[in-house]
Order: sequence, then C-alpha cells, then structure tokens
Amino acid sequence: MTGKSLRSDVTVIGGGLVGMATAIGLAQIGLSVTIIDMAPKGDLVAQEYDGRSSALAYASCRLLDGLGIWDHMEPYAQPILEIRVSDGPSLFHLHFDNETLGDGPLGHMVENRHTRIALFKRLEDIDTITYLAPEKVARIERTHGEARVITESGIEVSSTLLLGCDGRNSIVRKHADIGVTHWGYGQTGIVCSIEHEFSHCGIAHERFLPSGPFAILPLTGNRSSLVWSEKDHLVETIMALGPKAFEAEVKKRAGDFLGDISVIGGRWAYPLTLQCADKFHDNRLALVGDAAHGMHPIAGQGLNLGLRDVAALLEVIADSARVGLDYGDEGTLERYSAWRHTDTLTLLSVTDVLTRLFSNDIAPVRHLRDAGLATVDKITPLKNFFMSHARGTVGDLPRLLRGEPL
Ligand SMILES: Cc1cc2nc3c(=O)[nH]c(=O)nc-3n(C[C@H](O)[C@H](O)[C@H](O)COP(=O)(O)OP(=O)(O)OC[C@H]3O[C@@H](n4cnc5c(N)ncnc54)[C@H](O)[C@@H]3O)c2cc1C
Repeated sequence: MTGKSLRSDVTVIGGGLVGMATAIGLAQIGLSVTIIDMAPKGDLVAQEYDGRSSALAYASCRLLDGLGIWDHMEPYAQPILEIRVSDGPSLFHLHFDNETLGDGPLGHMVENRHTRIALFKRLEDIDTITYLAPEKVARIERTHGEARVITESGIEVSSTLLLGCDGRNSIVRKHADIGVTHWGYGQTGIVCSIEHEFSHCGIAHERFLPSGPFAILPLTGNRSSLVWSEKDHLVETIMALGPKAFEAEVKKRAGDFLGDISVIGGRWAYPLTLQCADKFHDNRLALVGDAAHGMHPIAGQGLNLGLRDVAALLEVIADSARVGLDYGDEGTLERYSAWRHTDTLTLLSVTDVLTRLFSNDIAPVRHLRDAGLATVDKITPLKNFFMSHARGTVGDLPRLLRGEPL
C-alpha cells in the first residue's frame, strides 16, 4: 500500500467500540469513511485483548440497534434486571429493580470482545468503509477545507473531517494541542471473569470496600465479570499471585452467595483516572469517546458516555449533510461540542464525587453514605430518577438514543 492516496468523506482514527460505531453511523448517512487503527484486527477480537465487559445502558442498546449492530450482539448480551448497591458489611443498601419502571431491563452486560465482533460483522454489509489496520499515524495536516493523515507505511488519506476516536492517549488530541484536565484516585481496576455454581439472576452487585468499589456484573450463563478497584501500591503483588492465591482473594471479596466460584481466563489491570479534554473540536477535527473524556468505572458509564457522543455527532453531521451544508465546518462541530461538553462535565463531576465518597473508610463519611443509600432506597421518585439515569433515558437525547431513525 506504500505511497497510496485515498479520499473519503471522513477519516476515523481509532477503530475501538466508539470509532467503529461512529463509522457505521456515518456510512448510514451516506458518507464514505476510512478507519485507521494501530492494532491488528485479530488482536481486537481475541479473548485475551482487554478482558473488559461493559454495562450498556438501555439507551445505548437502542443506538446500537439503530445502527444495525445490536442483532449481532444480542445472543451474547445478559439483561441487567436488578442492581444492588451495598456499603461493605453495612446493612444499608440500595436496590434498583427493572420492574419498578416496567420498561424492560436496566441495560445489558456484553463482553467488549463480542461487541467488537458484532461491529466487524456489521462492517461486512457496508462497502463505503475502508478499514486500515494495523496502521500507525505518522503525520496529520489540516487546512481550512481538509484534513490529511499520512500513515507510517506511507498511505495518505484526505477527508473533509477527521475524528479522534483513539482512546485516552489520543494522538489526534495531542496533534491539535488540545489540553486535558486529568487526575487519578490512587486506584487500579483489576478485571477478570468468574464462573459460579448458582445463577446470578441478572443482578449486578456493586460493593463499596475500603480499597474501592468491587463490582460483580452478570454475563450470559453462570458467569460474571469482576471489576475490583484496588489501591495502586497493592496491585503489582495481586497481579503476580498464582492462580489459586488470586482465586482465594477473589472469593474473599465476592462472598459465597453465588456458590462455588472459579476464575476463568486472564486478569487485566487498568489505572483508574478522570480526564476531560478542554474542548471537543478544532478546525476539521472532533474528539469522540475516551479521546474526549475518561472516568472511573464506578457507575459503568464511560462507554455509554462515548456512545452519547456518537449519537450527537451523527445527528449534527446528518442534519448538515442533508441540506448540503459542510458537515466538517466550525458551525457543525461547535454544535456537537456544545451539546456534549455540559453533559460530560455533569457526569464526570457526579462520578468523581461518588468515587471519593465510596472509596474511604472514615467513620463519619461511612455513616453519611449509609444514610444516603437508605434514604434513596426508601424514596421511590428519587430511585426512579437514578434508574432513568442508569438507563440513559434522561437529558437532551439525540434521536438515535430515543429509538428514532438518524
Ligand atoms: C475496568 C473498566 C471497566 C469499564 N466498564 C465499563 C462499563 O461497564 N460501562 C461503560 O459504559 N464503560 C465502561 N468502561 C469504559 C469503557 O471501557 C471505555 O469508555 C471505552 O472502551 C472507550 O472506547 P473508545 O473506543 O473511545 O476507546 P478505546 O477502547 O481505547 O479504543 C481506542 C482505539 O484506538 C486505537 N488507537 C489508539 N491510538 C491509536 C493511534 N495512534 N493510531 C491508530 N489507532 C489508535 C486503539 O487500538 C483502539 O482500538 C470501563 C473501563 C474500565 C477501565
């Protein structure tokens, strides 16, 4: 491919969950897209790639349905019927039940690998998307009317709009010199899956332990995904434990309500931080998903927030393109940025407060949050408010998240 020149309407750097969903939506609008990812496709769908599973809010599932992706993932999606939140051994807890709202599951748990496989399956039906991988970006150039990407192997891709969907260390963001606010919590997320004797009954458990939140999230069959937030300085030792010792630590934290437990597959460690780009667009360029923002997984909202970006961006681009306007111009991108920035800052702030509140063992703070959990659990309208947020059905929602066509 060396020396080859390509032209497409939009170039997407980063073919992760957000980048691929964006590209599929753009193709649905009638635009041609080139996706560039540095990882080989085989790695992205391999069992050992990231071990992560995502709790997809009800509204995110609607978006994936609207983009023709959901049918490919549904067989691997476990409906979340209840969420139980507890504060360590305290008797106070919070219980969300999908039957209270009476409008289907609160969301679905899907292994990221299966979502990626579904995205690649959907790509097979579309001939206006060019997928280049593994390809590293060597240079990005932008003029008033165009963005050009040159890869290390010498392929040149020019387009009307460039999208940075390249994750937390986005080179697109760095290229545009967009600053980022960033802080850590001294915590790392250890991720693994377990197989258990009893059914999880579709219940997601979030326990607040002194080292940080410990989540047991239901997968299809008698399996669950664990996100174990641990203090940074202990993580190297935990990750180096032999299989039996690691399993014993997991059992200590998970308890015995699922019967006999065994750890299946690998284990992964992710630094847990908060970050937000100073702005989400620049000349001929926009940031989407983790390239724009990242958060602690305490509320399982990172990807859901990224998919809200996707829905908003697709809507402003579709509205401009349909009336013959330049969908990569300042006006269109400014609408996207303004729409997404406030919602993002709100969710980041809420997540930050929750993480701090539920990651310490100081007695007055513990009493305060126990009282908070007990209060919310007893006030139905307040509970419904939180549940609607968990389902992603509140706020100024783009059409795709409302279940309407693009
Ligand atoms: C432990 C943990 C649990 C989580 N649980 C949940 C959950 O339950 N629900 C939820 O909503 N969210 C959750 N999240 C957040 C979620 O995983 C992320 O928000 C989501 O994966 C971000 O997707 P993305 O496509 O924006 O970025 P990424 O997944 O980081 O994808 C970026 C892509 O860009 C490519 N790339 C990077 N740099 C370059 C480059 N220079 N050139 C070309 N390609 C490049 C990469 O190869 C990759 O394919 C969790 C996160 C963690 C850490």
